[in-house]
Amino acid sequence: MCGEAKARILQKHTGRALCSKCFRDDLLKRFKDEVLRYSMFTPGERVLLALSGGKDSYVLLDLVKEVHDVGKIGIVTIVEGVEGYNRVDDIAWIEDAARSYGLDLHLTSFKEFAGLSLDELVSLDKSREVGTSPCTYCGVLRRRIINYYARTLGYDKVLTAHNLDDEVQTYVMNLLRGDKGRLVQNHPLSPTLSKYFVKRVKPLRKIYEWETTAYALMRGYKFQVTECPYIRFRPTLRAIIRDHLYEIERLKPGSLIRILETVDRYIETELLRWVSQLSELPQCSMCGSPTAYGRNTCVMCDLLGKIGISTRLLF
Ligand code: SF4
Repeated sequence: MCGEAKARILQKHTGRALCSKCFRDDLLKRFKDEVLRYSMFTPGERVLLALSGGKDSYVLLDLVKEVHDVGKIGIVTIVEGVEGYNRVDDIAWIEDAARSYGLDLHLTSFKEFAGLSLDELVSLDKSREVGTSPCTYCGVLRRRIINYYARTLGYDKVLTAHNLDDEVQTYVMNLLRGDKGRLVQNHPLSPTLSKYFVKRVKPLRKIYEWETTAYALMRGYKFQVTECPYIRFRPTLRAIIRDHLYEIERLKPGSLIRILETVDRYIETELLRWVSQLSELPQCSMCGSPTAYGRNTCVMCDLLGKIGISTRLLF
């Protein structure tokens, strides 16, 4: 692009060879375009970044602080509590960044919020022979905690670090299931359907995972070497879809972007009107959190109730 520095990145979906600076400018531009296209957050809004400590978190924070008032950025980071999966190392850079940029950091854990670490939840599940996957507890609790912090601390938006690969996999999973409710939920303009939900947006949704990896490496990010030991319990459908999508992308670079844009357009023309006419979600009779239409209790109360944990205060 600049014709000056030595190229370091071959961006196959555009056919361009880019130096480090042009690569960064390109990511920043695509990030800004997506934020503006869907008004993901506006200058006066307080935004809460949900950061796990991984490379995508690193890129999200790096780009958001370029465009937003740092006085209006907060971070929430959750330690799940898994033996041998050293999240302390993983989140050290978040603590440093929060200190050096003056950002509010809300550091919490499953133990603090629900009274038990993920390991303890899993062993309780085992002893009662319930059979819920660790990743289900993990996903449900993480979403609940993030919304709790955003809602009770008055943030306007939650920003998560999902990348293009994550988003296309989720779109395809919901298309295969024929689940239009979940399909539309992933679109940046979908309404929250409850005054208790803080809107979640994903500003990296047009950036490939290989690009967040390359960018994080270029900026000196240190990758965590240990994987969560529960990774083998993750849903297999997503892994199958991911492998197929990578093969398609390899044969036809740019496919993931085209799939995302096509499904976005379909949702915008066919589904957004439908979803905006839906009524407010009902509240869980146990904890008060919003829950799906037709349900009396929420997924979290059902999950934790099965292993004997009271959820009355967890909203
Ligand atoms: Fe949570 Fe499963 Fe990911 Fe481990 S692999 S962090 S349990 S979602």
